[in-house]
Amino acid sequence: MIGSGAPEVGDVPTCSRAGCRNAATVTVNWRNPHIHSLDRVKVWLACDEHSAYLHDYLAARDFPVVLAPLGTPVESVPSPAPALS
Ligand SMILES: [Zn+2]
Repeated sequence: MIGSGAPEVGDVPTCSRAGCRNAATVTVNWRNPHIHSLDRVKVWLACDEHSAYLHDYLAARDFPVVLAPLGTPVESVPSPAPALS
C-alpha cells in the first residue's frame, strides 16, 4: 500500500481492467468451460467504458460471458450456442 493521504474508500468497487480506476457499474460473469463446471461463475468488475472490452476479451476465447448490472447476481453462465458460419 502506498500512503497517498487520500481517505480509504473501501466501498466503491473499481473496474477490473488493468490501469482503470473508474467505479465499476457492471459485472462481467464468465466461465472457462475447459476447467470450470456449469455452476461456477467467475466475476470481474467493469466500468461503462470497459464492459464491452472485457466481454469481447472473454468471448474471443470462446468463454461464455454474461454482463449484468452491478449488484445483480448471476448464478450461472450458459454456454453459448454453437456458432454458425
Ligand atoms: Zn474501466
